[in-house]
Amino acid sequence: MFGKLLIANRGEIALRIQRACRELGIPTVAVHSTADAQAMHVRLADESVCIGPPSAKDSYLNVAAILTAASITGADAIHPGYGFLSENAGFAEMVEDHGLTFIGPSAAHIRMMGDKITAKAAMASLGVPLVPGSPGAVADLTEAAAVSETIGYPVLIKAAAGGGGRGMKVAHTADELSEAWRVARAEARAAFGNDAVYIEKYLDKPRHIELQVLADAFGNVVHLGERDCSLQRRHQKLLEEAGSPALTGAERDALGATVCAGLTKLGYRNAGTLEFLYQDGQFAFIEMNTRLQVEHPVTEMITGIDIVREQIRIAAGQPLGYTQAEVKFSGHAIEVRVTAEDPETFAPSPGRVDVFHAPGGLGVRVDSALYAGYVVPPHYDSMVAKLIVHGTDRPTAIARLRRALEEFAVVGIKTTIPLHQRIAADPAFNAGDYDIHWLERFVAGE
Ligand code: ADP
Repeated sequence: MFGKLLIANRGEIALRIQRACRELGIPTVAVHSTADAQAMHVRLADESVCIGPPSAKDSYLNVAAILTAASITGADAIHPGYGFLSENAGFAEMVEDHGLTFIGPSAAHIRMMGDKITAKAAMASLGVPLVPGSPGAVADLTEAAAVSETIGYPVLIKAAAGGGGRGMKVAHTADELSEAWRVARAEARAAFGNDAVYIEKYLDKPRHIELQVLADAFGNVVHLGERDCSLQRRHQKLLEEAGSPALTGAERDALGATVCAGLTKLGYRNAGTLEFLYQDGQFAFIEMNTRLQVEHPVTEMITGIDIVREQIRIAAGQPLGYTQAEVKFSGHAIEVRVTAEDPETFAPSPGRVDVFHAPGGLGVRVDSALYAGYVVPPHYDSMVAKLIVHGTDRPTAIARLRRALEEFAVVGIKTTIPLHQRIAADPAFNAGDYDIHWLERFVAGE
């Protein structure tokens, strides 16, 4: 096992990783920007190193500073969390070149899945079903028009290097194609420095269903069931459930068997998530995330498996130690992402938190780095807390979510708690009757 682990992240996920390390008996090193000197992840770490000024590109994305911090503290492993450097194959390679262990998959697999075109090609070759679309990158508008005619409008133009919902534009008709083409490419170039795009059929009422997997270095691959992340705004998830209210256990098991066989063949190692759109009883792969995901806790709640602990054990060369048949699902879990934003306009609301009272009780978990007196900096992601509830079934979990949201007090900054209360009270949500477009209409008051 590792002697000391550096966490190249901040906020709730840095705490989440610290908790797993503490339970495993591994001392931790926190890194932080000058804006985060008072942050909870710094306070709770065994050691901490300041790695730069507030701007993420000069601190949490500063590879040289992070590697230096690892070297001077004697850390022998780095966990990247999510976001920042977590899907940067070059970083993973550099960590290994410095004789440290990167807690995640191989750089080759990060690279393969980081480009959605190569990811889709790899999955197709493993027998995983895809969304209909262009076989690869689309070179120009003429080819885009030809592909769109073949698959039929509406179509979605997507950035090969995409993430966070950026570089994605819909063309409902042939008339809209050239504008969507121009905007998607410009956004892709600005956000990712890569304007390669591909085209997919734009599905009108899919659910976003993803499968969590764990794979060790000995060819053992298991899935931990699905998460339904259909409640999205601007292609960003706001609420996630495990399992999906739309899926039967048999459908999950069949998908799981295909995916686990595919990843075994690929030689994938560590945690990963395959994302699918699910419509009319069909799954279609859209991308694979080669890292820990924000919404991993709902899976932990229904399986009892600590995914971060498993990531660390796998990276340390330990076998999983259990089979698919030994992974048991129990009850239902829901996570809501609480952001420091106005719940109606979504305008950012950083600043001082005067009161912070997290809900508790049976089946309630709060992953947050907030505390009373903390000043939420304006420089980073707006998510300030995750509230996760678990119940014996979905109605019990929803009742618990409503109760926990009522107890949750964050005073001083605006948060999206009131929005989550409205969602939790909505009849369509309670019926499990929603798709990826539902929340946009709900927020618009339609
Ligand atoms: P990113 O990496 O930017 O998150 P994804 O490919 O994961 O991009 O897609 C994000 C979200 O966009 C999906 O969860 C879904 O809501 C929507 N989306 C992606 N592809 C399609 C599609 N072909 N049809 C309809 N919606 C889509």
